[in-house]
Amino acid sequence: MMNLLDSEAAGRRMHSFAAELYPLCRSITGDGVRFSLQRIAQDIPLAVSEVTSGSDVFDWTVPDEWNVRTAWIKDSSGREVVNFLNHNLHLVGYSQSVHQTMGLAEMKNHLFSLPDQPDLIPYRTSYYKKTWGFCLPHSQLVGLQEGDYEVFIDSQLVKGSLTYGECFIQGESDDEVIISCHTCHPSLANDNLSGIVVGVELAKFLASVPRRLSYRFLFAPATIGSIVWLAKHQSSLNKIKHGLVLTCVGDSAPMTYKRTRHGDSVIDRATEHVLKTSGSEFRIVDFHPYGYDERQFGSPGINLPVGCLMRSIHGTFPEYHTSADNLDFIRPAYLAESFTRMVDVIQVLEENATYVNMKPQCEPRLGKYGLYGAGGGQRAGQFDELALLWVLNQSDGSSDLLAIAERAGMAFEKIHQAALALEKAGLLQREPRSI
Ligand code: ZN
Repeated sequence: MMNLLDSEAAGRRMHSFAAELYPLCRSITGDGVRFSLQRIAQDIPLAVSEVTSGSDVFDWTVPDEWNVRTAWIKDSSGREVVNFLNHNLHLVGYSQSVHQTMGLAEMKNHLFSLPDQPDLIPYRTSYYKKTWGFCLPHSQLVGLQEGDYEVFIDSQLVKGSLTYGECFIQGESDDEVIISCHTCHPSLANDNLSGIVVGVELAKFLASVPRRLSYRFLFAPATIGSIVWLAKHQSSLNKIKHGLVLTCVGDSAPMTYKRTRHGDSVIDRATEHVLKTSGSEFRIVDFHPYGYDERQFGSPGINLPVGCLMRSIHGTFPEYHTSADNLDFIRPAYLAESFTRMVDVIQVLEENATYVNMKPQCEPRLGKYGLYGAGGGQRAGQFDELALLWVLNQSDGSSDLLAIAERAGMAFEKIHQAALALEKAGLLQREPRSI
């Protein structure tokens, strides 16, 4: 579906889009998310929803909306120690307003740093406990002199709304694939922006090609956002046949797939097959009820087959939730590879089908149907004789093409091409699609 040149250009485009979104102060609510969605809406059709603070969603309540204008600390001589406008990680997310002068010891109760990574600013939030705080490099924290400090945070935490965006791309069928990207992190590139930019690029691509399935891209804050979305769409969840959470897809680690709660649904088999046949290093991890929004999609009362595609795994890389998860940490080539793998997975979802052999008593004489090369050799088009034999042998209605590719140890596309040739020759008939 994609060639190499296209994917290189896509990699550069995605990285520069991440650079545009990087400075915005996103959180689980507020204008940072709204501005990010407005920017996304310039590239793809996006329906933006606002859900009022205080709304009950399953066991949760939509929180008050948080916005911040400015935040800083000055020492007794009026010199700035930290300023939110220099880096939005300096401010603990959901900090309340404060304007107070206090001694160093008291202020230190509200300062956060990473002693093991003394040059980095940590990322901290306090969504559900009312407090305030600043984050700064440990090397700077230990250098602070005794004395009075003026602390100023001009923020607003009031009844407002939570904002999420959806891009829906209709296919021939109403069966849906959901692709979910979290939008709640401020200046963090891999954890948040990489998923968003790959999602947007993929939505643009899918809108430009013929497609059997429908696709829904969800851009929502992690946890509360997907809970809100699921609560509001309970009556249409049965349309979702496959899903992936996209996160941390811009760094140099190998592609990593976390299985759905089911572990063996089509999206699991498709993604694992694509990674196994990609020729690159990859990792498969089993489902576990921690991580990103696969936890909500895979909760027992929702139970949708949604896996998670990543490169580095959250919490396991030193840059995670620090100022080092920046635009240098994600590279165009890795974004491009993640994008290409997503296209590969979607191609399998689009083309997978179950066929029945119309001449199942012994092997058909392939030469009669022009399915041997001119010299009776091995090659005929993009498939080989062995692929034809695998498809004929396994097509008793119980195995889909993906299962045949797996059993044959061949790339899906080779098996698919063989099936198309056999169908054209009248040797194979497609079963009505179940998904
Ligand atoms: Zn995170």
